[in-house]
Amino acid sequence: MTERIDIFGLTSDSFSEAARFVLPKGHGITPQLYPLVMREGRFDPEAFPIAEESKIIWRQHFKADLLEIVRVVEEDGEFGTTAKAILITHDGYEVECVRIPMRHGEDGEADYTLCLSSQVGCKMGCTFCETGRMGLIRHLTAAEIVSQVVTVQAKLGWSIRNIVFMGMGEALDNADNVIQALKALVDQRGLHFSQERLTICTAGHAEGLGKLKALGWKRMNLSISLNAANDEARSRVMPVNRKTPLAELQRILAAYPQRRNFILGVNYCLMPGMNDARQDAADVAAFCKPLGRVLVNLIPYNPGNAPLTRAPEEEEIVRFIEWLREEGLPVRRRITKGRSIMAACGQLGNVELRRKRSPIPTGPTG
Ligand code: SF4
Repeated sequence: MTERIDIFGLTSDSFSEAARFVLPKGHGITPQLYPLVMREGRFDPEAFPIAEESKIIWRQHFKADLLEIVRVVEEDGEFGTTAKAILITHDGYEVECVRIPMRHGEDGEADYTLCLSSQVGCKMGCTFCETGRMGLIRHLTAAEIVSQVVTVQAKLGWSIRNIVFMGMGEALDNADNVIQALKALVDQRGLHFSQERLTICTAGHAEGLGKLKALGWKRMNLSISLNAANDEARSRVMPVNRKTPLAELQRILAAYPQRRNFILGVNYCLMPGMNDARQDAADVAAFCKPLGRVLVNLIPYNPGNAPLTRAPEEEEIVRFIEWLREEGLPVRRRITKGRSIMAACGQLGNVELRRKRSPIPTGPTG
């Protein structure tokens, strides 16, 4: 039997095209099938008034794999509940996604952002990051990336307003699958996220940034994990900097296509004694100068299982924010959410996660 096509990795057009290709004439495409799969997670040919034979053929060629949920852990906070869902791929790997309350909407309810994973593990090796310590195990497919969204919406009832690719993995190290997933996420006949509600975050993957640029989506958001703005310090905490030093990264970002009101997110994880000196703030400003409008997201370091340093004190955070503002940079302090459940920035992929479950057998056993 040929490998079945996972609908979660398809746009409505590519779904129709695949259906036309594999289905014999007369087993026509049911227009409601794609929205039902993407919005409710239901691949249910039986729900449609089509011939029994057609239903069998649909099932032979297509699938829509929701991920298994192992558990959900939650932490209550000022804006709502941060929740981490630990999901399992069909071959037994754990991936995590996190629902983060961002602010109260007009109706007083929290708006939620879903932080998605793009890989099992990550090869970028950022020293402050739990996922980086796992190494890269494998890329997630486009279907598995989209399935995280559909799974938490369909099985957990999570309502998601925005999506950020800041979970496990460097999204642009898996650019082809991530771009295919983005196309499925914005499809009007399916999940219908607008580009403005999507954010790609990268450690500075030059080749992946080139692919994203070629996609030409000016309304989608982009943020960069900076964390140090001189080459020596950045190479120490982010090995990608040895391949793409700051000057090169700056050149790539300056050439990135920007809409009129585009604001580049610059994420800076504040690590006491490592990147919190007065000169570091000046270096951040010098790096950002040619990049147009930026917003520095200051993230207090979250010690994980193997801490590089301690979490910054309140006065250290306030002082560094003042220095950045003295340099003329707009700064937003990221309120730490989910630290107690290892769902905060840099904490995904904890030791427990590294214990891979036995792969599920794919062929006949015994
Ligand atoms: S911070 Fe991001 S890019 Fe760096 S190791 Fe962690 S997951 Fe990978």
